[in-house]
Amino acid sequence: MSLACTLHGPLQLSVETLAPVEPGAGQVRLRLGAGGICGSDLHYYQHGRAGAFAIRAPFVPGHEASGVVEAIGAGVTRVRPGQKVAVNPAHPCGACPACRAGRSNLCDQMVFLGSAAIFPHLPGLFREQFVVAESQLTAVDGDVSLGEIACAEPLSVGLHAVRRAGTVLGATVLVTGAGTIGCMAVIAARLAGAGRVLCSDPSDRARAMALTVGADEAQPDTRAWQGQVDVAIEAAGHPAALAGCLSAVRRGGRIVQVGTLPPELPFPANDIMTRELDYVGAFRADIEFDWAVMAIRSRRADVRPLISAQIPISESKAAFDLALDRSRSTKVQLIPG
Ligand SMILES: [Zn+2]
Ligand SMILES: [Zn+2]
Repeated sequence: MSLACTLHGPLQLSVETLAPVEPGAGQVRLRLGAGGICGSDLHYYQHGRAGAFAIRAPFVPGHEASGVVEAIGAGVTRVRPGQKVAVNPAHPCGACPACRAGRSNLCDQMVFLGSAAIFPHLPGLFREQFVVAESQLTAVDGDVSLGEIACAEPLSVGLHAVRRAGTVLGATVLVTGAGTIGCMAVIAARLAGAGRVLCSDPSDRARAMALTVGADEAQPDTRAWQGQVDVAIEAAGHPAALAGCLSAVRRGGRIVQVGTLPPELPFPANDIMTRELDYVGAFRADIEFDWAVMAIRSRRADVRPLISAQIPISESKAAFDLALDRSRSTKVQLIPG
């Protein structure tokens, strides 16, 4: 039997016991290594929804996970029992126009583990044991921990945001919001050769974290950098942060929105027109998942400072409450037990 963290609605969380599962052909059964609690999981926990995606039946969240292979189904060749693996929560169709154009994160048939976007909901990864397709796994040998490997998904989101920014070699890059995704964007901007990485966040703890993972400067807001920034990455999901991005970018600069903002916002269309700003979205990730695994395996991306706590699934409620408190945590992970 295995434990699963299950949400039933806003602030209704229970830990349930699931029957064992067997992997079918092309599938692999994993024991959870670590599963990171993400901002979207917190939205599901607090409000019963994340953006447009609402919980309509009992739902297991979780999409940032590592595991250890327990059993393999027929035809599986790329992983073997006992190996550590990174789990890609995305399972795109591979055939639609978006997939064929190399933008599988925009697949209109996407099955994304731990998202309530599809109904009936598929369970996510906050389970001690789960079965996934071999194609969603990357074996990770070496001494990086299961906690670090579970950071591949959020790092992939940061890498995708930076890729959507275009060439950042030598550029001044601002990241608003120094939660996990903001910090991953800082790491990604450095990997991509940014000349100067700035970060804003009102929280003292978050700013200290941004500096730890490679930001050159961190401020409570963006006022000191008006008109100086080539690329601004909005990772706070807050209207004030977006306004800060708009005023910090230079003429002809670019803004990448990776945070989830409130549904109704005034849109500064004329500012975008007269200053020739590029405003682009970044949603999840595509090939960047593989890049993230490589960067974590080699520790060219050192995500260890971001992992604040690892808490057993049996204490999921305490884990979610800690993850909600930005003054005490960045990334909280669930582990078996
Ligand atoms: Zn996430
Ligand atoms: Zn597709």
